[in-house]
Amino acid sequence: MTQTPQTFFNFTAGPATLPPEVLQQIKNELTNWDGNHASVMEISHRSPSFLALMQKLKHNIRHLLDIPNHYHVLFMQGGARAQFSAIAQNFLGNEGKALYLTSGLWSQMAANEAKKFATVDTQAIDNVEGELKTVCWPKNFDTNTQDYRYVHCCPNETLDGLSINEPLKSPYPIIADMTSCLFSQPMDISQYGLIYASAQKNIGIAGMTLVIVDEKLLQLPMQVGPSTLDYRLALKHESMYSTPATFSIYVASLVVQWLLDLGGLVKAYERNQAKAAKLYQAIDTSKLFSNWVEPRSRSLMNVTFTTEDNNLDKRFYDDAERAGLIGLQGHRAVGGLRASIYNAMSDAGVKSLIQFMQSFEKNHGAAKR
Ligand SMILES: *Cc1c(COP(=O)(O)O)cnc(C)c1O
Repeated sequence: MTQTPQTFFNFTAGPATLPPEVLQQIKNELTNWDGNHASVMEISHRSPSFLALMQKLKHNIRHLLDIPNHYHVLFMQGGARAQFSAIAQNFLGNEGKALYLTSGLWSQMAANEAKKFATVDTQAIDNVEGELKTVCWPKNFDTNTQDYRYVHCCPNETLDGLSINEPLKSPYPIIADMTSCLFSQPMDISQYGLIYASAQKNIGIAGMTLVIVDEKLLQLPMQVGPSTLDYRLALKHESMYSTPATFSIYVASLVVQWLLDLGGLVKAYERNQAKAAKLYQAIDTSKLFSNWVEPRSRSLMNVTFTTEDNNLDKRFYDDAERAGLIGLQGHRAVGGLRASIYNAMSDAGVKSLIQFMQSFEKNHGAAKR
C-alpha cells in the first residue's frame, strides 16, 4: 500500500518550483492586492499600485545584479523564443552579421531562428572528451576577416546541464540566453551587450521575459520587424507598449524580494553551490548513477544523471514521484534524469533526493561500469 508523501519537492526544469513563502504571499493577497479590493490580475497596468510595483521591481533587479546605469531593464513577452527573433531583427536586418556559439539545443535554436531573418555564422563550442561533454569559450575570435554585430551564446544549456563556467570575453558585444541561470550567482553585467531570460525557471512564472540591454546596442535603428519585439519602443513605453504580463511581473517582484531578503545573489550562490556539490557528489560516489558532463562544465542549476538503462531511469522517476520527488525525468530530446535545482529548491529537497537515490540504488543494484 502506498501512502501519499507528507512533503513534495518539485525538480521540474520549467515552469519550475517557487519559494513556498512566495506562494503563501500570493495566496494571502490574491483577492485584495495592495488595498485595491481586486486581485493584481484585475487592475490596470497603469494604476498607481501597479506602476509602483514595476518601478520597485526594476530598482530591485538593478540592485540585485548591480546593473550599470547605461543598461536598460525591459519586461518583454513571448518567452525566450521571442527573443531569438527579436535579437536578430533588432540588430541585424539585411546588412549585419552575427556569430552564434552553439553548445546544445537552446543555442542551436536561437541560431536557427536568427537565420530566418539574417546572415548568421555558427560555431560549435561543445565537445566530447572521453565520454564526457564539455563546453569551452573560444580562445580567440577572427576579427581580421569578420565583423560581427554580436556574438550569441547560452551560458547554461538546460537540457544537458552543460554550463560555460569561465569569464566570457569577446571583441563583439555578447548576447546571452540566461533563461536557466540568471539570478543563480553574482555576475558582471558589463561583460554583456544584452541578457535575456524568460521568467518561468528562476525568476517566477511564464509570461514575462526579462531583457537587460546596453544602451549602446540601441543606437542602431530597428530593422523591419514586429513593434512588440522592438527594444527601443519597449524602452520608450517603459515596457508598456502592449499590456505587460502583469501577473508574471507581480510574481517576479515577490521572488526578487525573496532573494533580497535571503541576502542577495552572494547568499543564493553559496546555497546553490552547496546544493549542487552535494548532489554531484552523490552521483559520483554512486555505483548506479552517473553524469555525462565534465566537472568543469557542470551546471549549477540543472543536474543531469542516468543509470544508463532507459527502463531503470523510468522506474526511478516513477518511483521518485510516488515518494514526493516530482519532475526528475530528463528532457525528451536527451533522455535520462535531471534534477533542476534553481534558487527556490531547498536544501531539504536536495537531501531528500539524495536519500531516495541511495535507497533506490540499494534496491536495484549497481549497473555502472
Ligand atoms: C526554457 C528555455 C528556453 C525557452 O523559453 P520559452 O520561454 O519557452 O521560450 C530558452 N532558452 C533556455 C536556455 C531555456 O532554458
